[in-house]
Amino acid sequence: MLVPLKEVLNDARKNKYAVPAFDCVNDIMVRTILDTAEQENSPVILMCLEHNLNEPKGFVYLAEYIKAVVSFYQIPIVLHLDHAMDLELVKKAVQFGFTSVMIDGSSLPLEENMAITREVVKYVQQHGISVEAELGHVGGHELGGTYASDSKLTEPSQVETFVQKTGVDALAVSIGTSHGIYHSEPDLNIIRTKEINDVSPVPLVLHGGSGTPNVQLKEVITNGISKINLYADCRVAMAKGMKEAAAAINRVDPLPEEMFRPITQALAAVVKEKIHLFRSNNRT
Ligand SMILES: [Zn+2]
Repeated sequence: MLVPLKEVLNDARKNKYAVPAFDCVNDIMVRTILDTAEQENSPVILMCLEHNLNEPKGFVYLAEYIKAVVSFYQIPIVLHLDHAMDLELVKKAVQFGFTSVMIDGSSLPLEENMAITREVVKYVQQHGISVEAELGHVGGHELGGTYASDSKLTEPSQVETFVQKTGVDALAVSIGTSHGIYHSEPDLNIIRTKEINDVSPVPLVLHGGSGTPNVQLKEVITNGISKINLYADCRVAMAKGMKEAAAAINRVDPLPEEMFRPITQALAAVVKEKIHLFRSNNRT
């Protein structure tokens, strides 16, 4: 069933686990992620990115497809818009039945970030949809490496005012991760995470979770992270599966399942591993 983000995150915060959030671009990813989460009895967040939604029929093949299949699953599922930069895209997501949106004003000055976040909260509140915003800035390569920026750690002293003035349901924080693939191992700031969590009225979100050592992910979950975004880890796994499939195929007309099975198996393995690492299994 489809639920708003705040419903799954409030339980995660209370019980100190994190809900995995995966960016999805097509039916193969959606099906593999949902099947695996259902096997593990884990709530799950399916996220969509603007450049996939803006492809021809992008909203239809993602949002309408997800809405058509969710009633066949028992687990709580959130349909989340990842990194919206303006209200126009948010309005379209509302129209297509998303249950959660992220408004990303993190590259704007603080006052402007608050203003656009407040505007989005005001608009979606009436529809019962959750809002995630970002304070500080998680940099790195976003959206297929087309855009890169530097990170700026979240200031704990700004958290309470930001949440109260905007009315957001979840807050993405910058504590040492970045988007995309790491060239050297990240070093997450656990003390900062705890400081932010101690003053935050709402659950915290970690972007750029891919490639982060497991021990560090476990530590930030213990110290208050309730949602972890993953994309690059899934892409790396699917690329491996694709190479395996290509190597194993020895006919000119392979069956589609021979082509896709190694890809879905590799993706399912990552999804299962993250669910167990985040301790979101058997929560439904
Ligand atoms: Zn992100």
